[in-house]
Amino acid sequence: MNKAKRKAVIAGNWKMNKTPSEAKALLQEIIPVAEGAGCEVIACVPYVDLAVALETVEGTNVKIGAENCHWAESGAFTGEISTGMLKEMGVEYVVIGHSERRQYFGETDETVNKRTKAALAAGLKPIVCVGELLWERECDITEEVIARQIKLDLYDVSAEDAKKTIIAYEPVWAIGTGKTATADQAEEVCAFIRAELAKKYDEETAQAITIQYGGSMNDANAAELLSKENVDGGLIGGASLVAAKFGAIIDAATKG
Ligand code: PEP
Repeated sequence: MNKAKRKAVIAGNWKMNKTPSEAKALLQEIIPVAEGAGCEVIACVPYVDLAVALETVEGTNVKIGAENCHWAESGAFTGEISTGMLKEMGVEYVVIGHSERRQYFGETDETVNKRTKAALAAGLKPIVCVGELLWERECDITEEVIARQIKLDLYDVSAEDAKKTIIAYEPVWAIGTGKTATADQAEEVCAFIRAELAKKYDEETAQAITIQYGGSMNDANAAELLSKENVDGGLIGGASLVAAKFGAIIDAATKG
């Protein structure tokens, strides 16, 4: 069982929710439910919440991530945040290529690849999101879409760096819609991603990489999704904003 060797990672993606004072309050509720977890627990929060979030989780097992980063070290990129800025703050993870960024902010596989490489070069751990649109699934090209994203998003990323990268399989039709992929659908695509990683790198590398499922994961469906061999954790939007629900997902991941 290779799954047992991989660390489960439960990450909340707060999106554009919570002011700094609200972030502090929510983290104060999350810390006790995450205590003693048998999985990595991460809260990916808006940039303006990072400072208070890092301060609040100090000395606990909750890690902090950002929701995006730029690829350049510095320069004329008004409104952007560099990986060096995040690293100096003490941020450990960064979400890259979330479907909302691809959909609303012109993110492409090329920019996902640039951001991923910049994050790795700075010593951040990227959570790279891939996933098909509903009509792509209906046209039966899910595997084609995912294979392309894996190839492009991880272009020129070494095997050693790939092991520091988390892949989040997030079918776009399941994000924020309340429509969850069935556990079998999630397993099928996560297993396919691992097979693509084995082709690109080697079996040992592919087996070492954490692959999460994301898309309306909640306290009711987490256990079944997380029981699957190739689903090593979750990237959670809505349910990560409610400590009790997030805690139940952490418990499900701990039980595996
Ligand atoms: C996400 O934001 O990555 C996500 C999966 O959202 P939700 O859990 O709300 O579908």
